[in-house]
Amino acid sequence: MKKSITTICTALLILVLSTGMALARNGKLGNFSGTNSAGTGTALIAYEEPSVVEIDALTYMVEEEKLARDVYNLLDTTWGIPIFANIARAEQKHMDAIISLLDKYGLENPVANLSAGQFANSDLQTLYNNLISAGQDNEEDALLVGATIEDVDINDLLHELQVVDNEDIIKVFENLLQGSENHLRAFCSLLAIYGYDPYVAQFLTQDEIDTILAAPQTKGKRGSMTSGLSTPLDRVPRQSRMLDADGDGICDFLQQ
Ligand code: ZN
Ligand code: ZN
Repeated sequence: MKKSITTICTALLILVLSTGMALARNGKLGNFSGTNSAGTGTALIAYEEPSVVEIDALTYMVEEEKLARDVYNLLDTTWGIPIFANIARAEQKHMDAIISLLDKYGLENPVANLSAGQFANSDLQTLYNNLISAGQDNEEDALLVGATIEDVDINDLLHELQVVDNEDIIKVFENLLQGSENHLRAFCSLLAIYGYDPYVAQFLTQDEIDTILAAPQTKGKRGSMTSGLSTPLDRVPRQSRMLDADGDGICDFLQQ
């Protein structure tokens, strides 16, 4: 009798463990499905009620990742340089990683019904419109648009990492940060071939850009490091970085 109870308990334990693993694989525990590098490791993190700031961060960043994806897809159509299609696929994974968190926390996905090139946030719409027009003249400008997007993205992720403390969100944002640093290095090494070297910082500081460019590409395994940028408290939050402060429909940084 004792033996059969032990056998039943063991069988139940195996069942519970295998069900848990299957749920984790299927994203039922809040992880996003798929095996991309951006969000691995979020499956078993407990539900932590997100703050208003965290909801805002997820809502904004998912649209910013969409901006990257949509611009790269368009520049791929225009120029056919493989880097755009490759990184556009990575940006889709970045979006998916954030969408899985929006789903886990029962939050609205702001990009669910938006087509390519369409944005709910008017700053991001302006940025998108300007970036795609800036990338139409020649390949070098198109690659510069790519580096600019990663510059914005890294800046915003570093800012968000200062203000969020939900473990799920931190993990995903850190993975996105690592991916974005890889993307920046990839765009800048191609730009160097076109003679545009070094890339001049537009959102991050030049020191931060140089630190990223000096670091090696990373594989995206959980726990591997980014270039180790700090997140100083005086980093300009995106909320106060108006992209079109004078309202003329052209991004301010593109007018400099
Ligand atoms: Zn991204
Ligand atoms: Zn990127």
